[in-house]
Amino acid sequence: MQHTLIQKLGTLEGNRLFVKREDLIPLSFGGNKARKAELFFRDIQAGSFDCVVTYGSSSSNHCRIISNLCAMHGMGCYIVSPQEASGETFNRALMRMFGAKITTVPVDSVHDTIEDLLQALKAEGYAPYFIPGGGHGNLGTEAYVQCYDEICDWEKETGTFFDSIYFASGTGTTHAGLVAGQLLHGDVRRITGISIARKNPYGRDVVVESIRSYLMGRASDEAIDQAVEFLDDYVGDGYAKDNSAVRETIRDAMVYYSLPLDPTYTGKAFMGMRNTIRNRNIHNQNILFIHTGGTPLFFDALRKGDISR
Ligand SMILES: *Cc1c(COP(=O)(O)O)cnc(C)c1O
Repeated sequence: MQHTLIQKLGTLEGNRLFVKREDLIPLSFGGNKARKAELFFRDIQAGSFDCVVTYGSSSSNHCRIISNLCAMHGMGCYIVSPQEASGETFNRALMRMFGAKITTVPVDSVHDTIEDLLQALKAEGYAPYFIPGGGHGNLGTEAYVQCYDEICDWEKETGTFFDSIYFASGTGTTHAGLVAGQLLHGDVRRITGISIARKNPYGRDVVVESIRSYLMGRASDEAIDQAVEFLDDYVGDGYAKDNSAVRETIRDAMVYYSLPLDPTYTGKAFMGMRNTIRNRNIHNQNILFIHTGGTPLFFDALRKGDISR
């Protein structure tokens, strides 16, 4: 994959703010799920699979990208989706456009529905490949180890080094990859995941466990523990909902930096980053925000009219 752009955005509370534009990955409106999906599809094509089963809500960026890739490769795409988060969105409209077969069930029966679906497909003679929700797992982690490598390459090329890195942490895979990359490089900077839904200690435990599972002994438990910062002060009402402070952040980022954010992920992360920098009195640093994508969600918010002045 081509390296994504690192853009100097301007100043933030007396610091220099840069953004790594994962949202500009040229696949299905980009984002971290596009980076992960590339590795999953490499795995799919190395095997003899003919369809994909995955999981996600109607606003899932992951499901949009997976269904687009399936359509590009002429493979069936089966999405199991929780009925509790099934409102109409641009991502859902895109999934339909890509021909995904969507099964909506109560969140409690998602697990069993996936099992049944995989069994039924195999019984009909298909060879389904299962991708965990959000692209969670070692392949997803690997994608963000590679992203960390890109950041280090850029630093060596430009001579500009980042003191800290901020981004939206959901299932923890992006977070795990960045920290695993840092541990492999032996860097000491602070990497801060802003949780968009999960609370501590569970959310952080998942990140730590994902790093352990990926590194398999290449870093000590103490080193992993010290490297994982998971802030849960900005989750709001979790995955689906947003609030007025996040909406204001989104509007300001678009108006003053020309940077589209969304209410579920990047808006919360950007607000969490700004508040953390303020609260910790951080000045004169080079700060990197990783824009993890979600462009269609920006337009959902815009259409609802809740980010205009
Ligand atoms: C999925 C997603 C995240 C969270 O990534 P994880 O690897 O699940 O932690 C952040 N931002 C956007 C836009 C996403 O779609």
